[in-house]
Amino acid sequence: MKRILVTGGAGFLGSHLVDRLVEQGHEVVCLDNLQTGSLENIKHLQGKITFLQHDITEAIPDLGGFDEIYNLACPASPVHYQANPIHTFKTSVLGALNLLELACKSKAKIFQASTSEVYGDPLVHPQPENYWGHVNPNGIRSCYDEGKRGAETLFFDYARLYDIEIKIVRIFNTYGPRMDPRDGRVVSNFIVQSLENKPLTVYGDGTQTRSFCYVDDLIEGFLRLMATPKEIQGPINLGNPNEFTMLELAEKVLNLTGNKTPLKFEPLPQDDPKQRQPVIDEAKKILEWEPKVMLEEGLKNTIAYFSVKV
Ligand code: NAD
Ligand code: UDP
Repeated sequence: MKRILVTGGAGFLGSHLVDRLVEQGHEVVCLDNLQTGSLENIKHLQGKITFLQHDITEAIPDLGGFDEIYNLACPASPVHYQANPIHTFKTSVLGALNLLELACKSKAKIFQASTSEVYGDPLVHPQPENYWGHVNPNGIRSCYDEGKRGAETLFFDYARLYDIEIKIVRIFNTYGPRMDPRDGRVVSNFIVQSLENKPLTVYGDGTQTRSFCYVDDLIEGFLRLMATPKEIQGPINLGNPNEFTMLELAEKVLNLTGNKTPLKFEPLPQDDPKQRQPVIDEAKKILEWEPKVMLEEGLKNTIAYFSVKV
């Protein structure tokens, strides 16, 4: 049994990770400022984990030692991370610093939830880990993209200077139950709009692409990476390489809900990446991992979850 800290543990991905760690018998401390997460996501774990409401931009209180730290704390939806961009940047950079210091003190292995956003609006397609990206350093997405790039920098410098064990994943768009129905991401927006019989808001002409990974597949990848030997640091792409346009996604959602609501075209947000698809050869080779859940099956589970929420 290990003692494990999960930051952002009350969020969408964090709460699924905490579920798996508790199932495996570990002692879990969940730290979250509840900015975009919710106690509802971890209500079923009451009595089984320790929860602390805390912002990782502030010094981490003394919580005892840890064997492992998973850093997932950061708003992930463009709507939320752009609402307070300076705080988002601080969360990635100061948050990483605070947790890396804790990892040094605890001699803990530390995991960072990085993102496909480090590739920006990519000129190389699909994106392998050795692509350095095409990122606007001062646009409206930069607080998130550059913050996450800065966090990767800090992780590698701490590993080089202090010999700590780091594990970095670059997550491509992931969806599933416990996404916040109002967080503005495309999968939750389309499902909620369709269930509420409202038009589906397609930004731009809907030909931009994303590759959607189901949450259970992603979390399995996290656990496999954390179990690798010290020399495996990543960054490693985790995502589903099946690529869809937003128009295709809208059509799938409408078919699955059976509600034939119209599409409403709205302006494309600034710097919205045109295409995104992971190369997952590294994950296949090192982690023997690849996604198993097809988009339709994952959407069905997510629609079932939202059906009782909205
Ligand atoms: P989420 O918004 O549901 O979860 C983030 C959690 O972090 C929330 O519970 C929030 O309250 C908490 N948080 C935010 N700022 C904090 C701070 N300063 N201190 C403490 N807690 C804070 O989003 P998610 O989809 O679960 O994303 C989890 C992580 O994975 C994030 O780091 C995100 O950048 C990364 N990621 C997610 C995706 C995706 O598709 N879901 C893609 C790429 C990267
Ligand atoms: N999008 C859309 N309608 C929405 C929300 C998003 O067409 O209601 C588009 C958005 O412009 C982007 C894609 O869907 O091209 C994915 O957006 P999301 O916010 O989910 O994630 P990210 O842009 O960070 O990949």
